[in-house]
Amino acid sequence: MIELEDAVARILSALPVPQAEIISLQGAHRRILVEPVSSPASLPGFDNSAMDGYALRARDVAAAGADTPIALRLLGRVAAGEVFPEQVAPGTCVRLFTGSPIPKGADSVVMQEDTRIVQHNPSEILVTEPVHPGENIRTAGEDVAAGAILASSGQMLNAGRLSLLAAAGVAQVTVGRRPSVGLISTGSELKEPGQSLEPGQIYESNRTGLAALIRQAGATPTIFPLVMDKLSATQDALAKAFDQCDLVVTTGGASVGELDLVRSAFENLGGKIEFWKVAIKPGRPFVFGQIAGRLFFGLPGNPVSALVSFLLLVRPALLRWQGAEELEMPGGLGILTEALSNPGPRRHFVRVIADSKGAVSLAGTQASHMLSSLAAANGLVDLSPQTTIPAGSSVLVRKWDT
Ligand code: AMP
Ligand code: MG
Repeated sequence: MIELEDAVARILSALPVPQAEIISLQGAHRRILVEPVSSPASLPGFDNSAMDGYALRARDVAAAGADTPIALRLLGRVAAGEVFPEQVAPGTCVRLFTGSPIPKGADSVVMQEDTRIVQHNPSEILVTEPVHPGENIRTAGEDVAAGAILASSGQMLNAGRLSLLAAAGVAQVTVGRRPSVGLISTGSELKEPGQSLEPGQIYESNRTGLAALIRQAGATPTIFPLVMDKLSATQDALAKAFDQCDLVVTTGGASVGELDLVRSAFENLGGKIEFWKVAIKPGRPFVFGQIAGRLFFGLPGNPVSALVSFLLLVRPALLRWQGAEELEMPGGLGILTEALSNPGPRRHFVRVIADSKGAVSLAGTQASHMLSSLAAANGLVDLSPQTTIPAGSSVLVRKWDT
């Protein structure tokens, strides 16, 4: 049995180099950059106004006040997207709007609220507040210098990064290819939801939950038919899945019983098992292996164990396969509303509900077949063996539904 961190390290060291593909920025949400993006332009690209107002020379209005307004001659107007052709000479101003390029000769913008229009004289503006040079001007390059790195290799493209890249005129990005993940559930007792159950049978649920988590990790699941607990059937299903997919995930049949056939089936196909069993709860029976450059993850059958061990052991692999640097689930601190206790000998990843105000409570009974508590939960707290954390303590919650 190995520790979680060792298990993750061994899995990551077995991963192939990410395969690059060039895609349009429009389709790049949540994809992982495998090449840095440098800015083809500076942002802003030119000095422009931060306000609706008037471009002028600051020294012309240094003495302006509500009772001592200063009159400036209005030369014209420049809208966003236009360029004003003339020079702003002493004693003059130009009407402009947010985003309008600053006309030559002007060094600042007075906002509209600090001006008055002169009745019956549309060619004059009264300024009632002074401005300092540069005021209300967004300077060329103050956000991003041309050539600067906009996003690094290994970063996921979120909404903010996508906006930045678009603003700089980037239309295409080089990202890691998404892996295809074959999903197989083994167990002679399993039936598809919608079918009728014979006595002793149960509905299969792991592939549905895992397919959702696989998609969340940016990979593409392929769901294979249910497999009976027979060696030949298990072997055939694995062979087919490895034929079609980059990685294969099974559930069930990974423990010690005589009907736990996944490891033998994998080895019969020529697969090499790298390790079996990780010191975590839920989820101890966990197989990691390699076959012809492809990776195999044998998860336990218990539904909670399957999903939790996926989050801790397979999710990082799927992200790194695409080139991601950040492999941890998003973490946030919260305050326990009740004590958490782990009397056992293994690390327990406890299902919790972290509310939007940071209160963290147990999501219900923690047995590894109890799906209702997984459904209620939105995070996990890593609880060391033989440990109790009292109510009121601050804990790190790792969340998956973000
Ligand atoms: P196993 O790991 O095959 O020994 O299965 C452990 C427990 O999980 C048993 O109670 C199984 O019936 C149940 N189980 C296994 N696979 C699934 C599945 N795909 N969906 C729902 N329950 C399952
Ligand atoms: Mg089974």
